[in-house]
Amino acid sequence: MPTKLTPENYYSVETDWDYMSFSRFKDFQRCEAAALAKLKGDWTPELDAKPLLVGNYVHSYFESPEAHEKFVKDHKSKIMSTRGKTKGQLKADYKFADVMIKALDDSELFNYVYKPGQKEVIVTGKLFGYDWKGKIDSLVLDQNYFCDLKTVDDLHKKHWQEDSRSWDNFIEDRGYYMQMAIYRELIKQTFGKDCNPYMFAVSKQAIPDKLAIDFTGESEALRMQAALEEIEANQERYWNIMMGEIKPKPCGRCEYCRSHKVLEEFVHATDIEVY
Ligand SMILES: [Zn+2]
Repeated sequence: MPTKLTPENYYSVETDWDYMSFSRFKDFQRCEAAALAKLKGDWTPELDAKPLLVGNYVHSYFESPEAHEKFVKDHKSKIMSTRGKTKGQLKADYKFADVMIKALDDSELFNYVYKPGQKEVIVTGKLFGYDWKGKIDSLVLDQNYFCDLKTVDDLHKKHWQEDSRSWDNFIEDRGYYMQMAIYRELIKQTFGKDCNPYMFAVSKQAIPDKLAIDFTGESEALRMQAALEEIEANQERYWNIMMGEIKPKPCGRCEYCRSHKVLEEFVHATDIEVY
């Protein structure tokens, strides 16, 4: 039996070995070697720490005043300026996060749909025979829906998709069809209710853009189904890597792989890969 999840142990290493999660599945899809090193605690990525913290700052505000206060206190050295004229004030990134918060806070639709829900609800279940965990930003069970909150650099930026060789939006690029499909399934298994996914996204532009997004159309259903099939096809390999039965494959180009790269041979100039 996997360890029972609580708010305290949800992000702990111990439960990370018991349950697959959306973010770790994505880690494995990007680079198996980096994902395993991260899970083992052998390596911490440099790049994504700051945007992640800004996103969590925004989340905690809409969770509860207590959660926000605790978050600021726990991360004080990173959030507050400690020197010069601005000492004791929020650093620029977090002043700006307050602008993003206001953009949502002023929205009637957001207040009506997102705010009433139960926040940070832990859900678990089995996807194709393996244990999974998830955390729902805002769950409104009696109205059969849940919401996820995203901070995104630009809501309308195009992202190149190598698989389909076409441009797509941030939902596809960040794997959010998969995340919504996973959460829907885990809520079903935890509470016995089929809930509709909604997403509120706010941009990190000087004047923040915002969107309320649903996943109710036919094309959304197809993409969510395809995402679950992707999990079914790949997760056994990832679990086997975690159990040490298969060696992880390095992607050869991520932060982790670059830091472990050893020059061994020459490559023809015309053969240098571009991505
Ligand atoms: Zn890699």
